Amino acid sequence: PVRVRFCPSPTGNPHVGLVRTALFNWAFARHHQGTLVFRIEDTDAARDSEESYNQLLDAMRWLGFDWDEGPEVGGPHAPYRQSQRMDIYADVAQKLLDGGHAYRCYCSQEELDTRREAARAAGKPSGYDGHCRDLTDAQVEEYKAQGRAPIVRFRMPDETITFTDLVRGELTFTPENVPDYGIVRANGAPLYTLVNPVDDALMEITHVLRGEDLLSSTPRQIALYKALTELGIAKQTPVFGHLPYVMGEGNKKLSKRDPQSSLNLYRERGFLPEGLLNYLSLLGWSLSADQDIFTIEEMVAAFDISDVNPNPARFDLKKCEAINGDHIRMLDVKEFTERCRPWLQAPFAPWAPEDFDAAKWEAIAPHAQTRLKVLSEITDNVDFLFLAEPVFDEASWTKAMKEGSDALLRTAREQLESADWNSAESLKEAVLAAGEAHGLKLGKAQAPVRVAVTGRTVGLPLFESLEILGKEKTLARIDAALA
Ligand code: GLU
Repeated sequence: PVRVRFCPSPTGNPHVGLVRTALFNWAFARHHQGTLVFRIEDTDAARDSEESYNQLLDAMRWLGFDWDEGPEVGGPHAPYRQSQRMDIYADVAQKLLDGGHAYRCYCSQEELDTRREAARAAGKPSGYDGHCRDLTDAQVEEYKAQGRAPIVRFRMPDETITFTDLVRGELTFTPENVPDYGIVRANGAPLYTLVNPVDDALMEITHVLRGEDLLSSTPRQIALYKALTELGIAKQTPVFGHLPYVMGEGNKKLSKRDPQSSLNLYRERGFLPEGLLNYLSLLGWSLSADQDIFTIEEMVAAFDISDVNPNPARFDLKKCEAINGDHIRMLDVKEFTERCRPWLQAPFAPWAPEDFDAAKWEAIAPHAQTRLKVLSEITDNVDFLFLAEPVFDEASWTKAMKEGSDALLRTAREQLESADWNSAESLKEAVLAAGEAHGLKLGKAQAPVRVAVTGRTVGLPLFESLEILGKEKTLARIDAALA
């Protein structure tokens, strides 16, 4: 049975790279009717925070991901927060030491730095040089007498490591490129290099799908797995698949610190989780060459990790928005009106709660649904319905109110006065007639009307907007513009 894991560290805000990793693991688990283990890698007390942990859980819920084992749902390998598993890691580290798979390293940072520099200068591999691999008892006693506190270092086998990456195919690492590495700090704190594969082993993970940035830890982990298997701690070594880098602006790797990568930003701007996930799935994968828009169910049904493209994927905000717009249009209109709610209220909406009119909102909603890319755009598009006066921006006003606009507005007002206000078509006829009287096509004739009534030069279909706003307010706004 397939067992995969999503194991973020709770540092900072959730970001899109993390969401893509969660998505691919979740889709893989669901496609294979496997198990998704959600594990919190919070062994770095200096960087991890409870706030970030809560944000992670909240993000997973918002995205619609469920997990079979992990925080709040429990499971046979609980606890799923590494900070609560410290005794396990201490125990495994001791067993690795006892079995000769790891050793205590007394080298100071300065000594390491000096030797690394020297190796570099000599054009030799600059990783750990094995200095403390086979210390005599006398040397150990001397280091102890000097008051040195040792770290625990894993002893890499002197052999080439080859494995088949699910995304990249066969990969080979030679020993000089994978030196012995630290697994426990001098203060006894276990490192990622230990706790991550130990938990993968104990939690019986079968497939590790994670970002390419972790590729260099894979040969180390495979070697550690071998040791854990000898010690009877691991049952099997998982297979690995490394997801491609995500490139942002200027073809630089999208970083966690990039504002574009913050999940909170997408939530605030009103991306739908289904739209965002559809887009993120395209960062390395595709359903088919001619179908960019699909549901999460379609993705799960088709998801095959071997289809993932190893080349870096480019994050394209415009495309992300366009795909989100398609998902907005896929919503049932009732669902759309509900999902817009947050942006029709404070702090996003500038009108008072009592000025909101649900009937007007429901009438305008279908016209908005076909036009939005993100839900937050709704506020500016409908504010003319709920504010006492439209928000005029200077630029729109000067753009639309040209020579002759007053005369046009006066005629339009007369025509609108006698139009049928239950018919957007009749309102259009009225403005069309006013335009004709002044030698203007509809587009030119409706511009000043739109600005007078909505404050803007672009917006939702004008005549439907006027009909919904109503005769009295529309005419009063035209009068105000003429005054
Ligand atoms: N906690 C690690 C991270 O967030 C997990 C890496 C992995 O998937 O092995 O980078």
